[in-house]
Amino acid sequence: MTVASHHHVLIVGSGPAGLTAAIYAARASLAPLVIEGEPSSTSDQPGGQLMLTTEVENFPGFPEGIMGPELMMRCREQAMRFGAQFLTEKVTKVDFSQRPFRVWVRETQYTADSIIVSTGAQSLMLGLEEEKRLIGHGLSTCATCDGFFFRNQHIAVVGGGDSALEEAQFLTKFASKVTLIHRRDTLRASKIMQDRAIANEKIEFLWNAQVTKVLGQEKVEGVEVTDTVNGAVSTLPVTGIFVAIGHRPNTDLFKGVLDMADSGYLTTQPGSTYTNIPGVFACGDVQDHTYRQAITAAGSGCMAAIDCERWLEAQHA
Ligand code: NAP
Repeated sequence: MTVASHHHVLIVGSGPAGLTAAIYAARASLAPLVIEGEPSSTSDQPGGQLMLTTEVENFPGFPEGIMGPELMMRCREQAMRFGAQFLTEKVTKVDFSQRPFRVWVRETQYTADSIIVSTGAQSLMLGLEEEKRLIGHGLSTCATCDGFFFRNQHIAVVGGGDSALEEAQFLTKFASKVTLIHRRDTLRASKIMQDRAIANEKIEFLWNAQVTKVLGQEKVEGVEVTDTVNGAVSTLPVTGIFVAIGHRPNTDLFKGVLDMADSGYLTTQPGSTYTNIPGVFACGDVQDHTYRQAITAAGSGCMAAIDCERWLEAQHA
């Protein structure tokens, strides 16, 4: 098997974390190769989760807001301007057991002195056909990002875990009413989160209910809900729906290779982007289940490039 090319830095994934790492690494004259992913309808595509959003209003520097895909395109151009190279492919296999590190795209092998992993995470979805059409048009997976758009409206949150309750609680700042739709009659969330949500007058609970359809063509106009006990179907006239049934980090490639928590998130040394393998760094949502914001992902991408640059320098000292 031939080696296609060797690189000082190879970045896997191209959301805000990977692209920021690419800008910093490129400006440090490290000419990174970014294997950015393949276009798809999921959040492991080039540009990551922001490709599935519409308006981003909380990224500093854009007072009028910016569309998620445009923000990512601009970051990509910025990285290219300083010499980052992009490969629109999906990594299929890695071997970090020796240096240079090895990364495969099907049969083609790339080698690198250092690796930055920024493969992100995906929000779990309900699996309904209309979710793809309505995401960013009333259907969201991030209350922090989109809650503001739902002032004085009746919205729904789906899920019964800490995420769903946290989102519901947060959304009551904007919404006139939040209906929490849960498929069972007991919550999975921690007691303290349950107590807070139950005490919040703006939150009502719809128990034993599964969302079976999201209504609306151009934007969300309601949800169809099926009772999980008696099968009765009803409609809830909401203008927004937040799906909060969990996240999954994109770490299948790194199972048995990099240290990760039971939840699949990569483990990094506190306050840094170092993984358990020297020379392999991780940034963005793939190692962050707490903040999950474009700006925090970008910040950790910057950290990864700086950690990586300093580590490479130390190898040659
Ligand atoms: P989670 O604990 O796995 O809860 C997911 C919820 O979504 C469950 O209630 C589950 O229902 C429901 N669900 C899953 N698939 C569904 C489907 N297809 N249709 C309808 N409902 C579905 O996930 P999470 O809430 O994101 O939390 C993940 C981890 O992060 C947890 O350890 C949590 O404690 C932690 N977290 C902590 C905080 C905090 O402390 N502030 C905030 C957020 C998250 P069932 O209950 O029936 O399975």
